Amino acid sequence: MKSVLQSIPSVDRVLSSPALAATLAIHGHSRCTAAIREVLKQLREDLLADDNSAIPTDADIAGKTAALLAADDLISLTRVINLTGTVLHTNLGRASLPSSAMAAIEDAATGAVNLEFDLAQGQRGDRDDHIENLIAELTGAEAATVVNNNAAAVLLALNSLAEGREVCISRGELVEIGGSFRIPEVMQKSNCTLVELGATNRTHAKDYERAISPETALLLKVHTSNYEIRGFTQDVSYAELADIARRHALPLMADLGSGTLVNLEDYGLEHEPTVQEVLTAGADIVTFSGDKLLGGPQAGIIAGRRDLINRIKRNPLKRALRVDKMTIAALTHVLKLYRNPDELASALPTLRNLSRQPDDIRPMAEAVLPHLADQLQGRASVTLCEVASQIGSGALPLDKLPSIALRIEPADGRDSTLQAISASLRALPTPVIGRLHDGAMYLDLRTLETADVLIVAIQGLSAS
Ligand SMILES: *Cc1c(COP(=O)(O)O)cnc(C)c1O
Repeated sequence: MKSVLQSIPSVDRVLSSPALAATLAIHGHSRCTAAIREVLKQLREDLLADDNSAIPTDADIAGKTAALLAADDLISLTRVINLTGTVLHTNLGRASLPSSAMAAIEDAATGAVNLEFDLAQGQRGDRDDHIENLIAELTGAEAATVVNNNAAAVLLALNSLAEGREVCISRGELVEIGGSFRIPEVMQKSNCTLVELGATNRTHAKDYERAISPETALLLKVHTSNYEIRGFTQDVSYAELADIARRHALPLMADLGSGTLVNLEDYGLEHEPTVQEVLTAGADIVTFSGDKLLGGPQAGIIAGRRDLINRIKRNPLKRALRVDKMTIAALTHVLKLYRNPDELASALPTLRNLSRQPDDIRPMAEAVLPHLADQLQGRASVTLCEVASQIGSGALPLDKLPSIALRIEPADGRDSTLQAISASLRALPTPVIGRLHDGAMYLDLRTLETADVLIVAIQGLSAS
């Protein structure tokens, strides 16, 4: 036994072995040394457990070291194919960016940019300068600023405009957005006092009038993004609310959540109040997301009255919540697409996916179907079926978009088989994410770029 253990090579011998040269060049001396130690430790344990096992060659040990380091190098964040039927899927990273925005990100990321540098004057500038005028032009706002996401926008606006004072909001709008964003908690973190008014289903103008006190700093209206109260309901419109705010010399803030700059009816969707409409109706400050309906990078946009925006910009929290150069580059290019509404549905992936018609999706489904059926032969049947996609990220939660899906039904009708198929799709080199419903799996092709993307992705599925 002792002699067997003695024949295990030293770390230095493996390090200088020609078989390790390529691995050494990729991973460097210190990581290779640590990995070899790990491999040799395992080898020693194996030999102690079974002294009949052969002593591996230096090349074997080098191979194991290379495999260990390669496995350790796998990056967890990976591209997936979203066929869930939810276009703006928060867990799958929301909006896909247009190519112009991607190019702008690469350009900004790979070198120096005039992020906070005024080229004309040769002195310090403001990162908002690159984007403020564009937001103002598109929304009609006097001024604007951008932060990390809409949750940050709400936090920052409340803290800047109402710290230590009261904010009035309807009980019907105390929303929780997925991932623990709750209006009452954000209010608390902003150091404001929440004053609830009205009832869950009905709020009247007089409820606001009654709730306003000398301590009131702001009236807040929050878009009930991910739910809708139906039946015996009443809420106070932006225009009515603006009128109340004006009479009490208070600012009106609107958290639009998704926020859109276009009339969605033009794209076959339901109407969603646009940022322009809400500002025109009299809101003084509007906040919305960059990566929901807008179709851009993760960001929170704050637009509105110049004096209020200036207070927001001066808050030290702004520095903690600011966006980086890549976000500004991408957002600028996405916003620029809105200057040409005629081309928007083809240029902006989010709007393209949302406005896609079943007749446009069906040919892709027909092209993929035989390949998928072939890969799943014996395990499941694949059929084409009509489904309803949804927008996601809390935008128009009740609006369903007619779409086409591939329906996978396990041959043995067992849930365990369905789960196994779903797991194999997720384990592909480019994972495919679908939706399980009623004993079948649905791959909604609304968000698929081309049939080829999926045909290539599912190659090798049958082997799993
Ligand atoms: C989505 C949403 C938020 C949070 O926006 P993020 O960009 O996800 O931070 C806040 N308020 C409303 C009403 C929303 O719909």
